[in-house]
Amino acid sequence: MYDHRHPGSQTTTPASKKTVVVLGSGWGSTSFLKTIDTDKYNVVVVSPRNYFLFTPLLPSCTVGTVDIRSIIEPIRFITRHKNNAIKVYEAECTDIDPEKKVITIAGKSLGYTTEIKGEISENTIPYDYLVVGVGATNQTFGIEGVEKYGCFLKEVWDAQKIRRKLMDCIETAAFPGQTEKEIERLLHMVVVGGGATGIEYAAELHDFLVEDLKAWYPELVGKVKITLVEALPNVLPAFSKELIKYTESTFKEQNISIHTKTMVKDVKEKELVVQGPDGTTSTMPFGLLVWATGNTARPLVRKLIAKMPDTQKERKGLAVDDWLRLKGSDSIYAIGDAAVTKYAPTAQVASQEGKYLATVFDKLAKAEQLEAEIVSIPEDQKMKLMRKLQKLREIKPFHYSHQGSLCYVGSDKAIADLPLGLGNFTSGGVATYAFWRSAYISNLFSHRNRWLVISDWTRKTLLGRDISRE
Ligand code: FAD
Ligand code: NAD
Repeated sequence: MYDHRHPGSQTTTPASKKTVVVLGSGWGSTSFLKTIDTDKYNVVVVSPRNYFLFTPLLPSCTVGTVDIRSIIEPIRFITRHKNNAIKVYEAECTDIDPEKKVITIAGKSLGYTTEIKGEISENTIPYDYLVVGVGATNQTFGIEGVEKYGCFLKEVWDAQKIRRKLMDCIETAAFPGQTEKEIERLLHMVVVGGGATGIEYAAELHDFLVEDLKAWYPELVGKVKITLVEALPNVLPAFSKELIKYTESTFKEQNISIHTKTMVKDVKEKELVVQGPDGTTSTMPFGLLVWATGNTARPLVRKLIAKMPDTQKERKGLAVDDWLRLKGSDSIYAIGDAAVTKYAPTAQVASQEGKYLATVFDKLAKAEQLEAEIVSIPEDQKMKLMRKLQKLREIKPFHYSHQGSLCYVGSDKAIADLPLGLGNFTSGGVATYAFWRSAYISNLFSHRNRWLVISDWTRKTLLGRDISRE
């Protein structure tokens, strides 16, 4: 903790070293930054978010189980602790020119509005290597009403918006003279998407209702309804059958209705248009709508794909080879949700890719140095170094090692699908929740985060969650 607060002095990487520009401060980029050797590269980070966000605990922030400040950590915490200084720019990359090897950055933040404006708000940065770790954005299938009337759950401001809207619905329902029909609508909380994000949000909302709102709004709480809408025949398609069953029965006990084989076709201000299993269309009034139907490529990624039509043919993200290098480029790499690989878009994959790529860069730098040495030594000594160089160039492709999947399902219960030998170990319940907690605590970014999350959980148990509307 002392080291955390007192980073030592840093030196400057010689200008002769190559420049790596890293886009993003999420799981992939952060893991890359932790591992990259700054003696070998000049490193520049560009991200509209000046912090890392521990997404697995974001659903807990929507109801105040955990405070947002407990799960974020400034990216400068990593960069300031490296040997050599890394430049960090809070900015959005708006364009990549793969021919000139230059990116354009704009000094504005995705999702944030700022009144502070400097004299310069756009600039360019040249790179030798570019690491694209910009993640993905929310999939809306072109339904305009989603953005207008719904809430996503991907970023800090999404969790804040959900919390504000939830309390708004409840206070509005308590307004004198509200009709029963309107109260019913306002207190209908609908989650679209039965992936892990939708399930964890519904579970947290349920806990908030029974553990806190019940005490403060006794006249309303029995009227609050949670509905989860999923297009496929079951929720959590990535988990095993037993765990899907367990989740569905736990949700039933918690009075959370699951509508499977139900596809949202349109989103209006106060209602959804849904197509049920029998193909008929009906409406579903809602007070709060949380939209969690997965990912699609960010505008920056789409723009880059459009510039490389011969080699970039995926729509979901950047096509990369087994070494995470962009197809059609020898200087751009992509990691995490921005890249299309055979793996799921998860934090586990992104962080392993970031770490792997930093080791690839290490080998590239060593190989380049060796090449320079070989040129300047006598012929008879070259053979040994040539062999070493060949070994350095034989870089193994990226291999993902799955550590298992965890998901919170409410009422202090979680599910775990863990690889064990050739098969899988599955478990669900209160003991699994203890495991879920310990796994997340140990994976949190810093000691500060660990300390804060543990104190948030203790505060929630002793004092309950705060119901004030921000
Ligand atoms: P991100 O972590 O999304 O980071 C992207 C970064 O790029 C951000 O810093 C962003 O600000 C920046 N950026 C965006 N646009 C630009 C731009 N134009 N220029 C520069 N920078 C830009 N996965 C798991 O494995 N386990 C879990 O328990 C889990 N829980 C999750 C819970 C929730 C609620 C969500 C939403 C996701 C969860 N995931 C989980 C998935 C996981 O969070 C993602 O797979 C992971 O964040 C992907 O990492 P990334 O680095 O690719 O992108
Ligand atoms: P997802 O892609 O995993 O799930 C989205 C769900 O929405 C799918 O089941 C899909 O069938 C459904 N859907 C799509 N369109 C629909 C429509 N029009 N109407 C109704 N349902 C519709 O997305 P996610 O849950 O946001 O997760 C994104 C990634 O993050 C995944 O890889 C996931 O594994 C990961 N994640 C992991 C955890 C965890 O491990 N605990 C938590 C959150 C997210």
